[in-house]
Amino acid sequence: MVLNKKTVRDIDVSSKKVLVRCDFNVPLKDGKITNDKRISASLPTIDYLIKNNAKVILCSHLGRPKGQVNPEFSLRPVADRLGELLGKEVKMADDVIEGSAQSLSSSLKDGEVMLLENVRFHKEETENDQEFSKSLASLADIYVNDAFGTSHRAHSSTTGVASFLPAVCGFLIQKEIEFINNAVNDPKRPLVAILGGAKVSDKIGVITELLNKVDTLIVGGGMAYTFIKAMGYNVGTSLCEDDKLQLASELMEKAKAASVEFLLPVDIHIADAFDENAADAFVDFDKIPDDWNGLDIGPLSSQLFAKAISSAGTIVWNGPMGVFEWDKYSNGTVEIAKAVAASGAISIIGGGDSTAAVYKFDLADKMSHISTGGGASLELLEGMELPGIAALNDK
Ligand code: AMP
Repeated sequence: MVLNKKTVRDIDVSSKKVLVRCDFNVPLKDGKITNDKRISASLPTIDYLIKNNAKVILCSHLGRPKGQVNPEFSLRPVADRLGELLGKEVKMADDVIEGSAQSLSSSLKDGEVMLLENVRFHKEETENDQEFSKSLASLADIYVNDAFGTSHRAHSSTTGVASFLPAVCGFLIQKEIEFINNAVNDPKRPLVAILGGAKVSDKIGVITELLNKVDTLIVGGGMAYTFIKAMGYNVGTSLCEDDKLQLASELMEKAKAASVEFLLPVDIHIADAFDENAADAFVDFDKIPDDWNGLDIGPLSSQLFAKAISSAGTIVWNGPMGVFEWDKYSNGTVEIAKAVAASGAISIIGGGDSTAAVYKFDLADKMSHISTGGGASLELLEGMELPGIAALNDK
């Protein structure tokens, strides 16, 4: 399925001031970038604009400065890193719409690049304030949205600004949308979805939508216990949403009616406290004792899931199988990552934790597509319209 929105290729950018919303929300430790994947993911669009003689004005948010100027969340380290990756200077403005933002953007020459300060230093950004959007738009002639990770948010720099300028998408957004839409709407079958992570409530919409599309749905992680309890079994002190038991039963009924294979863990790695160093054991899924909690799927579950994964044509994976941050409880997630990597299927990984797991276990280059947007990719899988994409000009 091809995206029906204009891209940077559909518009003349030569000598034009082009405002590009990127997702430079990178992890920082002591002021240093610890993972620059989000910066490198934006390079194809920026390179294209430079080669086509645009004056490139980049903007992004970083962290949650809550509408206040806070040097801790300055984008300056991003400007430096981006400059290294591009092999050219990236001028840094000291504000978004005020200060040197105006003078730098108006004196920019063809092929030059600048970065505005963190858009969330202004509270108007997340309020999608019209005046703020207008001021932002006044810096440029064309707007490009390439921030897939924030395209599910209707903010000034992702949505509002598009009302005031010709608005198109960049290559990252194009790639993300086409990969994810193709995976669920025109998949090579069987289509296997793997969902994990903490809560059923975060993923109800996705499960409901995917049940209409997938051949197999695998549920692991903390989410699984609500389903296990809904089947009438004890889950001890495992994560469980008691107010979602009825819904969990309905979803399992729906899967049955739609002939979707619905796989839950058959064995569990449990501990007698929510603590990496607590006493642990492996039990069948229906034998979790009181006062113990499930922290990972067991080896039989990994085998069962890996078998379904090995015959998949397309795999969509969002959420870890257990508390993978603790090595002792990372096996389930590692085994699933390995199975996806070995499957030969088209594989799409979404969500911060599954992505982190894939990098941690050095399997990233075995995946077809690693989404840069956790929330955005989930909303897309749910079939929802993303405001940052909807606001762009149609082809
Ligand atoms: P989410 O943000 O919903 O994808 O959830 C990711 C988080 O779920 C990770 O921090 C995991 O540690 C956590 N998680 C996964 N499985 C479990 C579990 N069985 N018990 C508690 N937390 C879990």
